Amino acid sequence: EDRLVGKDEQEEDMWQYSLRPRYFKEYIGQEAAKKNLSIYIQAAKQREESLDHVLLYGPPGLGKTTLAGIIANEMGVNFRVTSGPAIERAGDLAALLTNLDDHDLLFIDEIHRLSRSVEEVLYSAMEDYALDIIIGKGPSARSVRIDLPKFTLVGATTRAGALAAPLRDRFGIISRLEYYKQEELEFIITRAAEILNIHIEPNGAAEIARRSRGTPRIANRLLKRVRDFAQVVGDGVITSAIADEALQQLDVDKMGLDRIDRRVLHCIIEKYNGGPVGIDTISAAVSEERETIEDVYEPYLMQLGFLARTTRGRVATKLAYNHLGIAWTETGRE
Ligand code: ADP
Repeated sequence: EDRLVGKDEQEEDMWQYSLRPRYFKEYIGQEAAKKNLSIYIQAAKQREESLDHVLLYGPPGLGKTTLAGIIANEMGVNFRVTSGPAIERAGDLAALLTNLDDHDLLFIDEIHRLSRSVEEVLYSAMEDYALDIIIGKGPSARSVRIDLPKFTLVGATTRAGALAAPLRDRFGIISRLEYYKQEELEFIITRAAEILNIHIEPNGAAEIARRSRGTPRIANRLLKRVRDFAQVVGDGVITSAIADEALQQLDVDKMGLDRIDRRVLHCIIEKYNGGPVGIDTISAAVSEERETIEDVYEPYLMQLGFLARTTRGRVATKLAYNHLGIAWTETGRE
């Protein structure tokens, strides 16, 4: 499904690889994560040790994969990429791990989606750099220990809470990625435009940045769509007027909300009197998977202060009413 805001990296995002920063100095924003990681990396290099295992978490498209690649580059080691759902059996993981060199970085995206049996193998791999494999069946079965290279695991997940505690505890470094600030997104968009040879005015970049929901992947996607628009409707230059017109056509509003964000809010406000309403009820009402709402839509709506989470469910705030142009009254609400 081809969506501007969507959760997953889409095939049509492959072009964004050319925009991926390769070293810390090109990686914009995430100052806290960058600062800590560069110290740990420097220390590990000085001791000639592998870097501690790193867990990166935060909404999709904020630069977790990019940052993992940068860690590998800064460490000067190989970067191997896989994902939770791709590792089906313990044997798949064993094959990956035994093929690493000392200090190599293995990146597991969506690490919360590893199966139980694979996860258990990972525990001893992370802790002891060893695999215990059972060979044979029944009474003749025996356990064999295989030593592994001293590797670094970098795991990425949308929510740290989705991870089993024993797995989470095995990461020495845990870093949360934040939504990007307006100026940072403007910078990212301007840099991408330069690389892609797109003419963009500063106001055009600002308009796209405002509507990118704090997310570089979305900023890059919007930039590309607006470019097409500028080429066909304008004279090829992205101005703020062209950006505004294009984004309206794409149904991305002034705050970066798309149809589904607005449907979520309308649902809470109109069907449930502003809430509280349970996430499963919202999910059914807007026909979106619960996980997608929790990982993609909700964090941004909360960041904007449009949505609040209570123990009894989700609540639309006064700001959300204002944004949608719906009158908010104290009466009629709980
Ligand atoms: P995630 O793994 O968190 O889903 P990615 O690392 O795939 O996100 O980032 C998506 C795209 O956004 C990348 O291809 C890259 O072009 C861009 N990007 C992400 N973070 C940054 C950053 N800090 N500076 C510049 N571009 C970035």
